[in-house]
Amino acid sequence: MNDPKAVTGWSKIEGLDALAELALNLHWSWNHAADNLWKYLDPELWEATQNPWVVLQTVSREKIRAALTTLEFRQHLDDLLSTNYQSYKSDAWFQKKHPGFSLTAVAYFSMEFMLTEALPIYSGGLGNVAGDQMKAASDLGVPVIGIGLLYGQGYFRQNFDAEGRQQVLYPVNDPGQLPIRPLRQPDGEWLRLQIQLPGSKIWIRCWEASIGRTKLYLLDSNDFANTAAYRGITSELYGGDAEMRLKQEIVLGIGGWRLLRALGIQPEVCHLNEGHAAFAILERTRCYMEDHATSFHLALMVTRVGNIFTTHTAVDAGFDRFNPELVRKYLSRYAKEELALPLEDLLALGRQNATDISECFNMAYLALRGSGQINGVSKLHGQVSRQIFQSLFPRWPQEEVPIGSVTNGIHVPTWDSAAADTLWTTACGKKRWRGDRPVEDDIRQLTDAQLWQLRTASRKALIDRISVRYERQLASEGKRQLVATKIFDDNVMTIGFARRFATYKRPNLLLHNPERLIRLLSNPGRPLQLILAGKAHPQDFPGQALIEQWNNFIKHSEVGAHVLFLSDYDMLLAQEIVQGIDLWINTPERPWEACGTSGMKVLVNGGLNLSELDGWWAEAYSPEVGWAIGDGREHGGDPALDAVEAETLYGLLEEVIVPEFYDRNDKGMPSQWLGRIRESMARLTPRFSAGRAVREYTDHYYLPAAIGFRERASDNSKLGIDLLRWQKKIAEKWSNMRFGTMDSETHDNQHFFRIQVFLGDLDPHELRVELYANAAQGSVPVREVMTACEGCSDPNSQIYLAKVSAARPASDFTPRVIPYHANAFVPLETERILWGR
Ligand SMILES: *Cc1c(COP(=O)(O)O)cnc(C)c1O
Repeated sequence: MNDPKAVTGWSKIEGLDALAELALNLHWSWNHAADNLWKYLDPELWEATQNPWVVLQTVSREKIRAALTTLEFRQHLDDLLSTNYQSYKSDAWFQKKHPGFSLTAVAYFSMEFMLTEALPIYSGGLGNVAGDQMKAASDLGVPVIGIGLLYGQGYFRQNFDAEGRQQVLYPVNDPGQLPIRPLRQPDGEWLRLQIQLPGSKIWIRCWEASIGRTKLYLLDSNDFANTAAYRGITSELYGGDAEMRLKQEIVLGIGGWRLLRALGIQPEVCHLNEGHAAFAILERTRCYMEDHATSFHLALMVTRVGNIFTTHTAVDAGFDRFNPELVRKYLSRYAKEELALPLEDLLALGRQNATDISECFNMAYLALRGSGQINGVSKLHGQVSRQIFQSLFPRWPQEEVPIGSVTNGIHVPTWDSAAADTLWTTACGKKRWRGDRPVEDDIRQLTDAQLWQLRTASRKALIDRISVRYERQLASEGKRQLVATKIFDDNVMTIGFARRFATYKRPNLLLHNPERLIRLLSNPGRPLQLILAGKAHPQDFPGQALIEQWNNFIKHSEVGAHVLFLSDYDMLLAQEIVQGIDLWINTPERPWEACGTSGMKVLVNGGLNLSELDGWWAEAYSPEVGWAIGDGREHGGDPALDAVEAETLYGLLEEVIVPEFYDRNDKGMPSQWLGRIRESMARLTPRFSAGRAVREYTDHYYLPAAIGFRERASDNSKLGIDLLRWQKKIAEKWSNMRFGTMDSETHDNQHFFRIQVFLGDLDPHELRVELYANAAQGSVPVREVMTACEGCSDPNSQIYLAKVSAARPASDFTPRVIPYHANAFVPLETERILWGR
């Protein structure tokens, strides 16, 4: 279908293959060197779609042939291809930082990928993180392979009716028009996989998207060989019921790993972007069992260390849970025949309490139990996640729940405007996002005039664009735009608020006091204009009510002309807004915004943030770079909170932010505002980039995971076998252990502890005795390892000694025993712990 050769007359045109190669590599979504070629072929279509593959397929063969015989066109094409080819092949950050480390691959699983509007298989933030990290991995040379689903319809599209209510549309994604191609086997046959579902096997078709030097493989069930019901599995993203979701997750996780295997790829690392794809853990285990003739438990022990789970939600209710009956229906055969595992054991992996047969199967629990490393997506979210998963580690202090954090970042070249790109190139050079060279000081050299020129031009470009957009929107709503002129003023401070309309994001906080908002918008000396956008999930009625509330405000208020609600928030619209906006507002209720990424997209473009101290902003904010609302604490849904925070929001805008924007020096520029932009650009852009995030994942997660996997697997899983033995022994013998006498004495400003432990059947090297004290006033907890006293053991017990500073009273310290193995993750691989009191 998307095979270039299949297009009529294709092979007869010399150079067409080269054009197709360019059009099918999504590199064009962040590198605009080829734009002129597509524009040359069809300016109008290019403008409307920004999709080279559509241009290439639509334009007449004659026109393409003519273009290819034009010397300049041909030269440009050849230059681009050879430049790209060189850059994909050459050593990048990864090869330079870790020479000789032959990481086979990192398989990156995600339910959605936001790469370009031309491939609409995303909904929002989760896809954004996945897409931007894939692109950064390509820039940095990290061997990441994406695995996702190709949705026939994707996420819904949005329109408004006459009452300002959201309408839901599902245009079809014609795979022939998407910049992907069928994944073919060496003999040319389309790669199709089979998966057993109740009643029948189904066929899964495989597709390939190229993203610079990396690949994204997509699975889809819309194969004519399947029954109608099964053809629709990969139709909608986040549509359908729980059963549909389960089927999708089986296709993604099990199908995804099978796809890699069919290609002969053996990823050492598997990165689960959210728990949706956690079944990949099972299929990876199954493959290891098959290849090494091991049990399920040994295979999981070996492969676990190679799996990484990134959790994205800040509430327990955000995890996918399935009724055990549903899991039984879909996975009992798989468990029994392919994993040689009783279904109850499989279900236990997704339960808090393994023996509670009524408990639902939680995909996040499976992901956690099947991974060696787990992380949240901002520092605060790491903390929140440790709280959420605390119940899986009973009796462990919350700080020791084994969940770290890697704060998300955005792929800067995807979100910067052409003007910002030019300015940054002047200041920091072309390769600034492909390594780890600091750029702060270079950006600080930019003058007020340069920054103001960027801001003025970008605001104007945004307003031009949204005027066109708004006219189209009115037309699609059946209204005619009466004024052909621009709707907004190029010189007025422009505020953006665009995101998913979910109640926790409080998109109506700005509307808390409509009179006050009206005064802000229409202040004659210092007016504001506001651009809004966002969808609410079709099942989220409170979210939809918030959209209606805004549309009503716009319709009925005299300042309606200062506020624009643009329909169908998508990647293209997001790009337009973040590139031109002066101020980006974000008002989630802390701590519900796990990270948030839209605010990061304005940084490179010189937009500023006014946000709740939640997610990324809780760690990014300082007074020099923007503004904050909230007191940096959680209020547990206190109904009075909105009023308090709306007050801060209005107060800041009225007294600080808007005056600063309009405070002009003798050159007509707001120098204080520009100074803030300079600091925001310099300090935050690199820190909140996907490049930084991918480097962090690589150094602290991927490489240790790969090394750990090799260690556990080597020599016929020797270490894996030892770990399994240790784990079993701990499980069986732990309860035989107990504390004996505990003494302490204090002198020379130190406490000397002497603790007796009856080890039962455990060996001293299989455990560790520690003194533990809770964190005192903001400091970290104390963990002091105690040493076995030589010669003071008897056959039944062992004495342990430690001394600690007497700065805190001896009663603050509690002895405890935790399991120990040099290569095990504790408490991830055994949650046992014994406290002295
Ligand atoms: C960036 C982006 C998001 C995520 O933004 P949040 O800050 O997490 O709300 C969602 N949708 C689109 C289209 C985006 O571009």
